[in-house]
Amino acid sequence: MVDFPAPLVPGDCDCTDLDGFMLNVERLMASELVALSSHEVVAAALFLWCRAWKQRPAASLPDDERVLAAYARLPLPRFRKIREEATHGFVKCSDGRLYHRVLAVEALKAYEKKLAFQNKRNGDADRLRKWRAERGASGPEWETTRQAVFRRDGGKCTACSSGSDLHCDHVVPASKGGKAEMHNLTTLCRKCHSRKTALQRHDEMPNEMAGEMHSVAEGQGQGQGQGQGQSKKERAEASASGGTPPLDITAVVFSTGLSWLKRATSKSDATCRGLLGKWRKELGDEALIATLGRAQREGVIDPVAWIEKVVISHKSASAHPKQGGWNL
Ligand SMILES: [Zn+2]
Repeated sequence: MVDFPAPLVPGDCDCTDLDGFMLNVERLMASELVALSSHEVVAAALFLWCRAWKQRPAASLPDDERVLAAYARLPLPRFRKIREEATHGFVKCSDGRLYHRVLAVEALKAYEKKLAFQNKRNGDADRLRKWRAERGASGPEWETTRQAVFRRDGGKCTACSSGSDLHCDHVVPASKGGKAEMHNLTTLCRKCHSRKTALQRHDEMPNEMAGEMHSVAEGQGQGQGQGQGQSKKERAEASASGGTPPLDITAVVFSTGLSWLKRATSKSDATCRGLLGKWRKELGDEALIATLGRAQREGVIDPVAWIEKVVISHKSASAHPKQGGWNL
């Protein structure tokens, strides 16, 4: 009897919603695999790592030659010849599965980070519930305010003009101290509201998580109204990536962003529209929304100067992209 080691990650370690792992390029290029193996073996190994990342538990593969051959994209007889080389680094564990030593370490790190983020988000939700209960944001007073906001906004979503399923949205989120007062409230339909929330969550994540979790955030709007007010290109991109159509971001910028900018700067409607248009070109829609959100939350005193600074650092960052590992 051979004694197999315990699995290298816990059974619930799940990275299936994280799109990539860090590939240590230096280590790979210096490895025996790359130095001594054929292109076919290197490719097969790479495919197996990617498959293992998306398995549950993460970083593991079933110990089944037919499955492994299919994952490595090779005919079974061919795979048998190179199996030992291509599965270098995988060890068989006591649950009968093969775990990759290096990938398991990456999977554990990513999984821990994901859990920490989820805990933080759950914490936000708890604080929001408490805050609402304390301020009566769910009581009769809140209902009166809500109705007043709907009346002020003409009974229409301020982002897409839809008149059905209306929500009263905090421009500065309640969890960030935004008050349930008329000037901080706006009318959004359910669809626009859930997408705005998804974008805000995206903005609050640590950078590297944001990229990985993007598909999760977008998935929250799943199945809701296909493609209103979106360009053909956006819809094509959305269906090509298998995701849901993206939010009509322009509408969000010009509904929540514009009214806030006018209030915060006391500049005219035309000037504020001009500024937003310029920043959109320089930052792109998503970064602009994130920047506006941050400026609102932090209550910056001179928003124009503050956002211009963000634009400048954005420009120099894109001129000197960060060096890093490959995200497969
Ligand atoms: Zn809407």
